[in-house]
Amino acid sequence: MNAQRSVTVIGAGIVGLCCARALQRRGRRITVIDPGEPGRGASYGNAGILSTGSVLPEGKPGLWKKVPRMLLDPLGPLTIRPAYLPRLTPWMLRFLRNSTAARVERISAALSSIVLPGLTHYRELLDDIAEGRNPIRQQGCLYLYPKPADVEAARPDNEARLRRGVALELLGPEEVKQLVPALGVPAAGGALATASGHTTSPLRLSTLLAETIAADGGRFLREKALGFEFGDDGPSQVRTDQGRHGVEDLVIAAGAFSRPLAAALGHDIPLDTERGYHVMLPRSGLDIRLPMLISSLGFGVTPMEDGLRLAGTVEFGGTEAPPNYRRADAILTHARRLFPDLAVDGAEKWMGHRPSMPDSLPVIAQSPRFPSAHFAFGHGHLGLSLAAVTGRIIADLADGETPPIDATPFRVDRF
Ligand SMILES: Cc1cc2nc3c(=O)[nH]c(=O)nc-3n(C[C@H](O)[C@H](O)[C@H](O)COP(=O)(O)OP(=O)(O)OC[C@H]3O[C@@H](n4cnc5c(N)ncnc54)[C@H](O)[C@@H]3O)c2cc1C
Repeated sequence: MNAQRSVTVIGAGIVGLCCARALQRRGRRITVIDPGEPGRGASYGNAGILSTGSVLPEGKPGLWKKVPRMLLDPLGPLTIRPAYLPRLTPWMLRFLRNSTAARVERISAALSSIVLPGLTHYRELLDDIAEGRNPIRQQGCLYLYPKPADVEAARPDNEARLRRGVALELLGPEEVKQLVPALGVPAAGGALATASGHTTSPLRLSTLLAETIAADGGRFLREKALGFEFGDDGPSQVRTDQGRHGVEDLVIAAGAFSRPLAAALGHDIPLDTERGYHVMLPRSGLDIRLPMLISSLGFGVTPMEDGLRLAGTVEFGGTEAPPNYRRADAILTHARRLFPDLAVDGAEKWMGHRPSMPDSLPVIAQSPRFPSAHFAFGHGHLGLSLAAVTGRIIADLADGETPPIDATPFRVDRF
């Protein structure tokens, strides 16, 4: 019976698009509502890494000690805009509560269950796309440790990764040099997550999904969802800035902007945003073949179709404040120390909003209030990696089937 119900997906980021495509492949009629072009939110500017190594939450024991420095250094890898602190405090307190050793262990188990099969779910979702059009590659992802202290700092994380089943090879300076000959300074070491992938164009991945959905009869409405009208069984209409549309099944996937929509359905979710930046270098002059993450500096380096992308850092500042592109400049400064031959002409800067939950776990759930409503947001640093597996879980939940992964840790009412 569910298979006959149409689905309205709010948000055409990578998460909404993967949910829409997964449901369409099961025979559902799809409407996607977004005021912008598909894939132009956070999904546009990310580092493009389909990470299999990200099995640990952002919050770690002892992190609270670093908060004062975050407030004082606006160009550090992690910073808080002082004016935003009062609004952020409840989220930050939850974040710190989720950073104890016991919580980290539980969160890591839940993260592993969706992170490790992330790429497999993309393969399934895109298996009807011609090979040449698919912008996903699987060449691994290198954790790069510029200094000996970085190797030491990464040791517990790498031990945890290995315990969780991440395919990881620990590398010495020579092996790193062989993998990344463009490095201008000798690195102290590295770790290669061999099963990780990357996309050569996050935008093309979203566009490909959107075009496929449209070609198979999906409808895209360039409108902003504002709220809902309710019938006997739950939301019966979505109200937008341009009118009203009847809805049967519903998926809220509006990334960092999902909170008011979830609230309109009666769920108060502690969703905030970690703003991130990128610098796109169309003519970097470097031959870099695989993506890498430099955790100590808070950014990644990814070879893409349009050039080399440097992306990352975290800034707590909400959804309204204008970008501070000096943060993108700071990424560039760090990158030039690692790669002295980096050419920066034509550089483009960008800022986007990661949708972040204080326990580093996304919401992938059916509403306990209205079974026709589903939530798929809050993927933080991992929305690209987790979009396809999210689509699979949402499609199962909407169809009344048991997902292959226990979705309990991702409940909407866990707070
Ligand atoms: C610098 C940076 C680097 C990153 N690197 C990686 C990485 O390497 N790997 C990884 O896995 N993840 C990475 N991420 C995280 C990843 O980009 C996000 O988690 C992911 O893009 C979230 O996707 P989404 O679809 O939930 O949100 P978005 O892409 O933001 O899409 C949400 C959509 O909802 C729409 N919307 C908002 N409000 C409404 C409304 N009221 N009505 C209708 N539509 C609405 C928006 O217009 C938007 O199109 C990175 C993020 C940043 C910022």
